[in-house]
Amino acid sequence: GGKEYSMMVRCRIPGGRITSDQLLAQLDLCDELGNATLKITTRQTLQLHCIKKQDLHAAIQRINHVQLSTLAACGDVNRNIMCCPAKRTGSVHAELEKLTDDLTVALAPQTPAYHELWVADPETGEKTLEGGGPAVEPLYGPRYLPRKFKVGIALPEDNCIDIYTQDLGFLAVVRDHKIIGYNVLVGGGMGTTPSAKKTFPALAKRMAFAKPDQAIEVAKAVLKVQRDYGNREDRKVARMKYLIANWGIEKFRRAVEEYFGQPLADCTEDEVTGFDDHMGWQEQGDGKWSYGLNIENGRLYDNENHQLKAALRAICNEFKTELRMTGHQSIIVTDIEERDKDKLISLIQQHHTPTTEQTSTVRRWSIACVALPTCGLAITESERRLPTIIDKLEQPLAKLGLDKERFTLRMTGCPNGCARPYNADLALVGKAKDKYTLFVGGGWLGNRLAYVYKDLVADDVVVDELIAIFAAFKANREPDESLGDFCARVGRDDLETLAAAAPRP
Ligand code: SF4
Repeated sequence: GGKEYSMMVRCRIPGGRITSDQLLAQLDLCDELGNATLKITTRQTLQLHCIKKQDLHAAIQRINHVQLSTLAACGDVNRNIMCCPAKRTGSVHAELEKLTDDLTVALAPQTPAYHELWVADPETGEKTLEGGGPAVEPLYGPRYLPRKFKVGIALPEDNCIDIYTQDLGFLAVVRDHKIIGYNVLVGGGMGTTPSAKKTFPALAKRMAFAKPDQAIEVAKAVLKVQRDYGNREDRKVARMKYLIANWGIEKFRRAVEEYFGQPLADCTEDEVTGFDDHMGWQEQGDGKWSYGLNIENGRLYDNENHQLKAALRAICNEFKTELRMTGHQSIIVTDIEERDKDKLISLIQQHHTPTTEQTSTVRRWSIACVALPTCGLAITESERRLPTIIDKLEQPLAKLGLDKERFTLRMTGCPNGCARPYNADLALVGKAKDKYTLFVGGGWLGNRLAYVYKDLVADDVVVDELIAIFAAFKANREPDESLGDFCARVGRDDLETLAAAAPRP
């Protein structure tokens, strides 16, 4: 027999907003054509795994039939645009969502080939390639971008989309409950190649201020600068962060202004001050409630212990409301009436799914990438391993009195960094077989890079290393100091000394 090929199919879901019917359709699809699981990604979208090559066309057609798409969810184009997923009344969130949708349209490839190849009926579908679309992509040109491109939109008090990790970030500047513009950040990116010293993770830098009616044209100008000047010789250094590192932010800004056609104002003082993961009950402002359900590593599955898919199916069928995926691989059920709050919780519990309130703080603030066995680039375990690591951290954290301490714990199966490890309080990055690089000293605000605490940490001592860091933190922290701040303050050598000396729980 011939070789069996299977694929990952990722949707484009701007801002993570999805209807109950769309989620139900995705759940059916993973059962019928995939591996019976669905992954909520760190970019607020959904991935199907193990779709067989012969089923690919049917899968993508069905995705499009529920008004979702896979266009530009992968590839050297603008990817799924992230936006704060909180449902709130008032103009601020409405404007953020509109910008997300408008940018999604403005930065989408115009090719009719996607529709022709994947959506139109293969027998009867009209051929559009010759006549339909533009001969050359108006924005992307004949060669598209040198590399993938990521956009995120955030509020200063709520950086839940991790704006500093994006190629292009819009940080809303709000005065008197109105968005007066955006501080535009450029050049974030997590991916590194361990064999290539020239690669590095970078946080986005503040570039300039854009008024609301300038935002889309500024985004296009940034994308065009990267299109025309980004490195096309070497894919390892093709992300926009390397162009900005080479040029400096001032030269980059001048190039953007040139494409934009006029100078831009400087950024305002506004900066990131908070991160709300939107888990648990939150008021929307219209009398209704949203419930953020923590999904461990974003993986939806049913087994004898937990039935996450069944729980979400029951919720979708019962309430038929909109849902929203978060940048931390979890999901928010929106528009729940006060009188239905208990019913929602009991639907979760009936399906043996832990509620957010039953989930430990460390688990709630953790994320992990796919890694083994499904990701072709994986060097180590990640999402299959992190839950059992956390099992062993929960008790020691409680004994240290740190069980309510909020810190981000992120794990990836290779240095590509899909779960954004390099700005987390703590991160495990797969480096060699069963060995990880242990990063510390980023933070939950996402505005500081972590440093390498230890390299090539063997899988069986990872838990001990982490507990020693917690013990050092407990014994030596300053009042109200966060874990990441503590690790950044003491630095690598002192942390190692303190960790060796601190009494273990
Ligand atoms: Fe795969 Fe590496 Fe991304 Fe994890 S970080 S999903 S192992 S490419």
